[in-house]
Amino acid sequence: MAHILVVEDEKELASLVRRELELVGHRVTSAYDGPTAVEKALSLDPDIIVLDIMLPGFDGIEVTRRVRAATSTPILMLTARATELDKVLGLELGADDYLTKPFSMRELQARVSAILRRSEMVREQSRPREAAELLSFPNLTIDTAAHEVTSGGQRVMLTATEFSLLKLLASNQGRVFSREFLLEEVWGNDAVVFDRTIDSHIQRLRKKLGGPDSPGDFIETVWGVGYRFSARIAGNAS
Ligand code: CA
Repeated sequence: MAHILVVEDEKELASLVRRELELVGHRVTSAYDGPTAVEKALSLDPDIIVLDIMLPGFDGIEVTRRVRAATSTPILMLTARATELDKVLGLELGADDYLTKPFSMRELQARVSAILRRSEMVREQSRPREAAELLSFPNLTIDTAAHEVTSGGQRVMLTATEFSLLKLLASNQGRVFSREFLLEEVWGNDAVVFDRTIDSHIQRLRKKLGGPDSPGDFIETVWGVGYRFSARIAGNAS
C-alpha cells in the first residue's frame, strides 16, 4: 500500500492508471499539469510519482528538476516516443525508471512494485536498530544505516536506486559487476529495464559524487564488462 501521485493530462489514461493502482490497494492523488504536480509532490510527499512528460504549464522534465531539488521521491517517467526517452536519459534527470507508451497495466504495476520494493529496502536498511555500517574511503563516506553519503565533505542527495547501486558497488570494492548483474540485483528480476538505464544511473552517480575525471570518480568503467568501485583511483587523486 503506497501513496502514488499520478501526473497525466490525458484524462482517460489518468483515470485508467488511477483505477488500476487503486485496485491493488494504493492511494492515488492526481495532477493534470506541471505546476500542480510540483505543488502536490512537495506538499503531500507521496511514496512514488508516476509522471508523464508532455504536460500543460511546464513539462515532466521541469517537474523532475523542481521535485529533485527538494526530495528524492522515486519517479517513474512515462514517455510517448523513443526520442523522448533518449532526451530523458540524456538529461540524467534522476527519474528512477521509464515506461514507453503504450504500456500495459500489468507492466505499470510491475514497475511501481519494483520501485516501491527498492525504497522499502532503503528504509529497512536505515532502521536505527540495525548496526551502523560505515563504508569509508578517501573523500567518500557511505553511512548505510543513516542512508547518508558524503563526498568531499559535502552531503550528497541520492535517490533510493542510486543509493542501492552505490552501496552494492562500494561494499564489493574492486569487483567488476556486469550490467545484467546490477540490473538483477538493484532492479529485480521482474523489472524490464534497459542496459542504458544502468549507464544513465552510473553517470548520474558519478556526477553527484564529483563527476568523471575528478577526485570523486569512484566508479570505473570496465570496457565490455561493466562497472567496478575503485577507491584506489579516489585515493590517488586525493
Ligand atoms: Ca501528456
